[in-house]
Amino acid sequence: MKDLKILKAIKNEQKRQDEHVELIASENFVSQDVLEANGSILTNKYAEGYPSKRYYGGCENVDVVEQLAIDRIKKLFNANFANVQTHSGTQANWSAYNAVLESGDKILGMALDSGGHLTHGFHVSSTSKYFQAKSYGVDKETHLIDFDEIRRVAHEFKPKLIICGASAYSRIIDFKKFKEIANEIGALLLADVAHIAGLIVTGLHPNPLDFGVDIVTSTTHKTLRGSRGGIILTNDKEIAMKIDKSVFPGTQGGPLMNQIAGKAVAFYEALKPEFKIYQKQVIKNSKAFAKRLLEKNFLLISGGTDNHIVLVNVKKSFGITGQEAEDIMQKINITLNKNTVPFDEESPRITSGIRVGSPAMTSKGWIEQDFTDLADIMISVFKNIDDNELIKIKKQEIINLVKRANRIKW
Ligand code: PLP
Repeated sequence: MKDLKILKAIKNEQKRQDEHVELIASENFVSQDVLEANGSILTNKYAEGYPSKRYYGGCENVDVVEQLAIDRIKKLFNANFANVQTHSGTQANWSAYNAVLESGDKILGMALDSGGHLTHGFHVSSTSKYFQAKSYGVDKETHLIDFDEIRRVAHEFKPKLIICGASAYSRIIDFKKFKEIANEIGALLLADVAHIAGLIVTGLHPNPLDFGVDIVTSTTHKTLRGSRGGIILTNDKEIAMKIDKSVFPGTQGGPLMNQIAGKAVAFYEALKPEFKIYQKQVIKNSKAFAKRLLEKNFLLISGGTDNHIVLVNVKKSFGITGQEAEDIMQKINITLNKNTVPFDEESPRITSGIRVGSPAMTSKGWIEQDFTDLADIMISVFKNIDDNELIKIKKQEIINLVKRANRIKW
């Protein structure tokens, strides 16, 4: 590469990714094959439209790529219809809303501090500007989705669309209960499975389409371990046609064909038996991490985990804020994010919690013992955030722990 400044930044980022413990729950390490597809000459091609219905010539090869991506993700989710063109999860949600809603319609989604995503109607997201949005939350004691509250708000507010799915929820989502409530008020139901898609396609989390959920949206780069981007699925032909029109020309122009190729390669990998072994390890690892914190009496949101996420109330456990926790972890080569906790008294910029995810380090080959050792190191630093000598020692321990990675190739 001749652009030395960009080359240097990429090399530095490579070093960071090699030497740090990556615990951001929405990140993962893609395979070399996915990277090759992303960096391929497919980036040169304009392909507005859909396979065999394009608005540009020369699309015969990208048609093959997009059709494979569609067929593979349909198989993974057992879906009748898939759109693989959205550039991100946010655009997948916007395109889905735009397909079935009119401006001013009512939507009901999970509150940000309970674990919902910005696009589920949070006030700073444009979704709340174009739609009337209300939110539901989790139970104050159990931190589990509060279906009594959802039913009450749904009957009062009468949304046209209910959104389930989350960015920070560590328990199984009961799509059947959501569907019952949506049916009671004649609302459509959308499940945003961005975080848990990899668990769903390997049968480790219920599939919303099995419960009649009308639309499923997802990102492709979290547990699904593909290129960055979005997908939209449905079993309803009429909704499917609306979604295609909403994505193109409704909300996007030309699709990113190199990204779609990366999605197709990731879906090919996800169809292999090894992917289920990987996803099982993802859950074993987050459970091992949670178990260690619980053994030491720390406070976890919902008291544990069923998936790839562990949410820790660092304020109640260690007397520090989420921001302080994120900063101190950075000093010992651990990357994670602060996170609001249910009924958080701190602002979303400070927070009382952190979110820890196991997918990325599991891709690097970590097993339960690594996550248990990681928990011990984190606990000792959280308890002594001003002890610079200890921080130095623990940083070295983390560097040694990272070297244990790459023992398994998934
Ligand atoms: N939906 C959920 C549940 C998410 O967690 C996220 C991202 O974290 C998104 C949507 C948005 O995805 P993107 O960042 O690709 O726009």
